[in-house]
Amino acid sequence: MPDDFERMWSDLAPVGRSATSGGYFRQPFTAPERELADWFREQARARGLALDSDATGNLVAWWDPDGGIVPDVLAVDPPDSVSQRQGLSRTGGVLTGSHLDSVLDGGAYDGPLGVVSALAAVDELRERGVVPARPIGVSVFVEEEGSRFGLACLGSRLASGAIEWEKARGLRDRDGVAFEEVVEGGGPGLLDGVEMFVELHVEQGRDLVDRGAAVGVASEIWPHGRYRFDFRGEANHAGTTRMEDRVDPMLTYAMTALAANKQARLAGERATFGRVEVTPNGTNAVPSQVLAWLDARCSSEAALGELVETVTRQATERAERDGTAVEVTAESVSDAVTFDPALAARIAADHESGDWPVIPTAAGHDAGILAAQGIPTAMLFVRNPTGVSHSPAETASIPDCLAGVHALAETLERLAT
Ligand SMILES: [Zn+2]
Repeated sequence: MPDDFERMWSDLAPVGRSATSGGYFRQPFTAPERELADWFREQARARGLALDSDATGNLVAWWDPDGGIVPDVLAVDPPDSVSQRQGLSRTGGVLTGSHLDSVLDGGAYDGPLGVVSALAAVDELRERGVVPARPIGVSVFVEEEGSRFGLACLGSRLASGAIEWEKARGLRDRDGVAFEEVVEGGGPGLLDGVEMFVELHVEQGRDLVDRGAAVGVASEIWPHGRYRFDFRGEANHAGTTRMEDRVDPMLTYAMTALAANKQARLAGERATFGRVEVTPNGTNAVPSQVLAWLDARCSSEAALGELVETVTRQATERAERDGTAVEVTAESVSDAVTFDPALAARIAADHESGDWPVIPTAAGHDAGILAAQGIPTAMLFVRNPTGVSHSPAETASIPDCLAGVHALAETLERLAT
């Protein structure tokens, strides 16, 4: 008997958990995240699923009902060579899964809930004797959060061809380590034959709480982007430099953060400065440079462009007054994603419990990348009582998680039989 949902969940709970905050530090290609990847391989093996992977470290565990018994060669570790993939049918495949990495001091559910639920949903279908007409794969994409190399959904972007290896290889983490130093390579291939993707995810808001529903279906993802603001001034002594003589980029930054917040509030959009690097970062020095990253998300691409343009203009005007300089670089911009409406409707309607609500989200996901690459894609959300995410306060009840597993199993049954 494979581990059930609660057993799997409690096994993962201590991995990468901070004793002080209770949050999770599961950065890509660090020990906790690698431990989770090993755990996933083990779970796949325990279920006789055929493990497939690519040079970036993305994983898919296939249940191929046609193949019946998994060839031994696929059940050994590491099962990563192309020759070992031969004989594995992925044609018409229905993929489900999520990611195992976290943001810095994130919650337990963002990512792992989708992976654990996918394994448990496969178990439920097998226990019910369901024989799918299509292979079902459980996926784990690496570096979904972009918490290490700065580009969200890097693993799924490479696997789906949304970004080329030549562009990704030189990305660097905060310590200057290049992406190509930690992975062997990247490119399409892993998703060949995949015809549909369904990602289950903890909701990162309170929509389902307000609607009194345990499970919902995604309609769209708002367009979003990350922008680096480089504020330059002059380092100087905090005591001897008169206030009127300073060229202080911190002031320009501070006004920009306030302006971004105000613009987003007025327009009903989202703008966040959540990361700052100050040089020289000394208590007794006027800084010479402030690097700050704006995360912006809006209901349309036009609104996103307008918001960033307005914040940039206000930053530039303030820089003129402060005698500082500001340069803005778009590090990544993702267009709006509308999930296949017919697929969402097919998944959401006609359940014993009634129809599941169809709701939008302002959070990015691997599902958005695959959808943009032309793979019909859907998402299921599980209620999060706090509505909080990317924080230790993120949560979901066990009954709601089990409702999510059941919803995913039902969905896979609809799509794969
Ligand atoms: Zn996530």
